[in-house]
Amino acid sequence: MERVDVVIIGAGPAGLTAGIYCGRAKVRTVVFEALSAGGQALMAGTIENYPGFPGGISGTELIDRFKRQLLELGVPLEEFVKVEAVEPKDDLFLIRTSKGQAESRALIIATGAQPARLGVPGEDRFVGQGVSFCATCDGFFFKDRRVAVVGGGDRAVEEALFLKNMAREVFLIHRRDRLRAQRILQERLFKSPNVKPLWNHVVSEIKGDETGVKALELLNTQSGSRTTLEVEGVFIAIGQQPSSEIFRGLVEMDPQGFIKTDARGNTSRPGIFAAGDVRAKELRQVSTAVGDGAIAAWSATQYLESS
Ligand code: NAP
Repeated sequence: MERVDVVIIGAGPAGLTAGIYCGRAKVRTVVFEALSAGGQALMAGTIENYPGFPGGISGTELIDRFKRQLLELGVPLEEFVKVEAVEPKDDLFLIRTSKGQAESRALIIATGAQPARLGVPGEDRFVGQGVSFCATCDGFFFKDRRVAVVGGGDRAVEEALFLKNMAREVFLIHRRDRLRAQRILQERLFKSPNVKPLWNHVVSEIKGDETGVKALELLNTQSGSRTTLEVEGVFIAIGQQPSSEIFRGLVEMDPQGFIKTDARGNTSRPGIFAAGDVRAKELRQVSTAVGDGAIAAWSATQYLESS
């Protein structure tokens, strides 16, 4: 069994930053990541609002840089190792993973979030056959087709802006008549002739056949009327669900399952810290995840010195 000072769970921007700070503090650390490092940053085409990169940087390039910086410090990054359970054991934490067990004195949870689901008929059936949660991953398959994006936040608008360059027509379906996305993104969207917002509409069903999605059933939230929109792809961007299920009962969460912390990243349980999108907070960006990761690592180091 591996015994370290800090286990970091999750290697998105928050977890990688926490790893870099723990490495520089010379505490024995291991980072476990269920998939390959990067998290949702890998789904972003170009990240334009991370300081230091005028003109933007691709999500993959940025993550590659974070990762190289972590590995230069000699911090082990265990990719494709899923943490299955965490149990407090005396003044340690026992971490059960898909590849064995580890013990640590402190734990940083940086497991991030995943795209929320609409929960309508057809959504599960057509995932990978016209239903997608990532335009940069799947947009290519919809060249010259009619597609829809659902949502009104930053992600939905970025998805629509990415898709407009390859799809014939992009419908942005939003449940209100005003977007919550950043103004700079909204301006670009409204200047795009092949993007058509459909205000005050929700998707009630995704329809198709064995070849994939063919249409969406829409409900007008104002009039109550129902219409059918013929599209071959639908990109769902309606927010985030925290990846926090295995920590239920271990640390306090808000009703959505985001982990509650104080300003120093302390959760309700001493020795456990949380950083990044999994944390209950307002602004989920790479820049805020990086800040969270640094603070959580600093707090974990203080905790190790005082315990
Ligand atoms: P978000 O900001 O929470 O927006 C979710 C959108 O989906 C909202 O417009 C919401 O409508 C709508 N929605 C929620 N549930 C729905 C449902 N059941 N049916 C229909 N519509 C529904 O989520 P996000 O866009 O995924 O972004 C998540 C976080 O990442 C945010 O903090 C965002 O700023 C950040 N982000 C930043 C960037 C960037 O900086 N470039 C890019 C992507 C994401 P209402 O508006 O009516 O609530």
